[in-house]
Amino acid sequence: LLQLADATVRFGGRAVLDAVGLEVAEHEIVCVLGPSGSGKSTLLRAVAGLQDLDAGQVLLGGRDQRGVPAHKRGVGLMFQDHQLFPQRDVGGNVAFGLRMHGAPKSEQGDRVRELLALVGLPGAERRAVAALSGGEQQRVALARALAPRPRLLMLDEPLGQLDRSLRERLVVELRELFGELGTTVLAVTHDQGEAFALADRVVVMRDGRIAQSGTPLEVWQRPADEFVARFLGFDN
Ligand code: ATP
Ligand code: MG
Repeated sequence: LLQLADATVRFGGRAVLDAVGLEVAEHEIVCVLGPSGSGKSTLLRAVAGLQDLDAGQVLLGGRDQRGVPAHKRGVGLMFQDHQLFPQRDVGGNVAFGLRMHGAPKSEQGDRVRELLALVGLPGAERRAVAALSGGEQQRVALARALAPRPRLLMLDEPLGQLDRSLRERLVVELRELFGELGTTVLAVTHDQGEAFALADRVVVMRDGRIAQSGTPLEVWQRPADEFVARFLGFDN
């Protein structure tokens, strides 16, 4: 579904993405791990069309995305800070995701109801966003990102602002949800527990390059090098 070939982004002469090659298959859940500043968000932004490449290619469904604007790529992106509209209620926030996609107004009510049930917030349409807990807000942001039925859903630290116990619970729910929907997911986290619980495949980034890519078990049992081992918390 997604292919990156030699994808390169430079800021001020420094390669923040350095000739990255990555493939994500249909229905696959891939988690990108790596320290702060390693280029994880830049990678997602490049796929989403929010960041131009200086070299290399992004292909979606086999098509080169150069010059294709973000809203025509069919990808959903949920940001690090989920950026809900505080002045709109829950239903208004989710409906925004539908309108972006040009869904007819007559279908919006049903679809919003369906999406809120899906993320475990049935009947929450009229609730004020500001009165929701952090975890509930993350669910609303997820419903909004899922609304246009993206062929690829990208999540940047989707559970970043939540406490550990809630994160652990939500990760299990998300994995089930994506499995049921058959969603292809590319998610960024710097929490390895989260990545290992959610992903079919884990990609570890270092300084704009991919240090290792493999199943959670492979990466855990055979870290590619000392950097990956250290990042995973092995001491030597
Ligand atoms: P974090 O875990 O902290 O979110 P990250 O892996 O997502 O980190 P990126 O946001 O991709 O890291 O940033 C990678 C590097 O690129 C950082 O050093 C950052 O300062 C730099 N960078 C990102 N965006 C820009 C920009 N618009 N202009 C200049 N430098 C940038
Ligand atoms: Mg980031």
